[in-house]
Amino acid sequence: MDMHSLLPAARVTRHIRLHHQRLLMKALSVHPGASQAELIEDSGLSRPTVGAILDTLCAQGYVVRDRSERARRGAPVGHYFLNAQEIRFLGVDIGPAGSFGQWIDINGRRLSSREWGQPGLLVPTQAVQVDPDDTVSGGTIAVPAMFDPKSQQLERSTVVPELVPSRLRERFAAAYQAPFHYVHNAAAAALAEQSISHEPFVVFVLLRTSIGVGYADSEGPAGLGPHHGEIAHLPIDPAGPVCTVCGRRGCLESWVGIKALAHVLEVALTIGREDDRAILAEVRERLQSLDGRWPPALHGALEALATAAEILTQVVGEVPLVLGGPIGELLLTGVRERIKQHPAWLSPRLRPPRTVLPESFRVAYGAALAARDQWLDTFAIEMGSEQEQL
Ligand SMILES: [Zn+2]
Repeated sequence: MDMHSLLPAARVTRHIRLHHQRLLMKALSVHPGASQAELIEDSGLSRPTVGAILDTLCAQGYVVRDRSERARRGAPVGHYFLNAQEIRFLGVDIGPAGSFGQWIDINGRRLSSREWGQPGLLVPTQAVQVDPDDTVSGGTIAVPAMFDPKSQQLERSTVVPELVPSRLRERFAAAYQAPFHYVHNAAAAALAEQSISHEPFVVFVLLRTSIGVGYADSEGPAGLGPHHGEIAHLPIDPAGPVCTVCGRRGCLESWVGIKALAHVLEVALTIGREDDRAILAEVRERLQSLDGRWPPALHGALEALATAAEILTQVVGEVPLVLGGPIGELLLTGVRERIKQHPAWLSPRLRPPRTVLPESFRVAYGAALAARDQWLDTFAIEMGSEQEQL
């Protein structure tokens, strides 16, 4: 049966038009300041279609035209931008050492940011505080947790156990009266990296208090593997230390989780075991002071990361792996040295992040970009009856 015969022609036209609107909005999000000719090329749409949609988007205030630049023959050339005045998005990064929020405009420019202490946002009975002039069109909460991306149901977080009962997404959505979603924090980091580097595919290994792996491609960000980014308990070495979380020997976290690093660097003993934030800061300081001279106590951690990078390369192929996060960047050269000592038939290509962002807000920024992209994916405005004839 011909499906189209079941749908009124007007509805089919409307679906196509909404699709075209989204195509142009997305093209402008990756190519701000594009001319009409460039948008025709980027979108593959016809000149009359692009012209009509741009007119509507400008009239409705979603797009602004800048005519300041003149073409060689004297006719003004319009450059189009998404209108950054009205529409803002919020990315929130939840971690054991505190939570970070980053607001962005529709062009991905960073606006304000803020930090919440612990437990802060994680108290389920407490309303999320919103300033009266703080409106957002959507938000994303980056989490170190297992969850189902489709149902958005959080299953478990070994890093922040308070996260699942906190019902954070629902509370943010209620406070802002806008849709909020979850994304894995490593996937958010991958999206931030991809959005700035313009690479087609980014795999990001996020190493801070625990370890996650996410990727971003043209379809958006996602956590890698069956647990959607949670790879901390990937078995690496059955003769390794016992993991206090999963109970097995030699998982990745038992080697390079913040508690494991604090132990081999003898940091936690001086601070007290539960203060994640202080331990993270101290471990970072110790690693910086090593200046690339790795003590034997750290060899196991570097070897475990090298092995994990090789396993990832087997899974995703020889794409560059970004090793980032406050701990990841500091261990990068050490991991590369270990990899060089391994057989050369499988060489992970590790690199540091290229994005220039304050480290604490990298994940929150990626989460805000995810919210922006989600909004663009569902963007729809109805055109007046005049354009209905197109
Ligand atoms: Zn484990």
